Formats: sequence, C-alpha cells, structure tokens
Amino acid sequence: MSGAVLIWQCRGCGHVMFPARLGCPACGAETFDPVPVREGTITAHTRQRDGSLIVSVAVAGGVTLVARHAGADAASGQRVRLEDRGGEHPAPWALPPGAAATSAARDEKKPAGQ
Ligand SMILES: [Zn+2]
Repeated sequence: MSGAVLIWQCRGCGHVMFPARLGCPACGAETFDPVPVREGTITAHTRQRDGSLIVSVAVAGGVTLVARHAGADAASGQRVRLEDRGGEHPAPWALPPGAAATSAARDEKKPAGQ
C-alpha cells in the first residue's frame, strides 16, 4: 500500500513539522492535523555505499524531509513526487518525474474486470 507522505500541522499556531512530535516546538500545543504532501524539490543528496540515494526534499510549509530516491541520479532543484510505501520502509520515497516501473506503479490496483 502506498500513499501520500504526511506532515503535521499544529492546531495551535499552524507550525508544520515532520516527523510527528509530541508537542509543537513553536507553541507547545499537542494536537496536530495530518497534511498530505505529494511533491517537493530536492535540496541536497548523497549516495550511500550500496549505491542508493538519500535526498533532502523541501515541501510546502517550509519543511524538509529525508527520503530515499528511486531514480538513478538526483540533483538539487529536481522536482520529485513523494510517496509513503508503508511500514516496511520507514523513510518516504522520492520519485523523479517520469519514473517508470516503480514498485508504487506496479502496486497500484487495477479496477476489477479490466
Ligand atoms: Zn504550534
């Protein structure tokens, strides 16, 4: 199951954060609303020893997420789609535009009878 990545907005002051916290760092309130984010812009990237890419992605609200990059190359300024692939992978995934044959695409369920 995949879906939008969720960031969290404070009900007290509107501060946006990721990941979720017990209390708002800006005002101390303890109630938040989930805000789905589906895209962002890469601000930094690094390649790990196993060849995989880790990227920082700026999203709406001024929050930067750390995500796994699903493409072959990452570049600062690149727009990416964001995807949460569930608990198996705790970090969000960043997909470059036009990324084909990702597991997310394969996992999408086709309507029955088609
Ligand atoms: Zn707050």
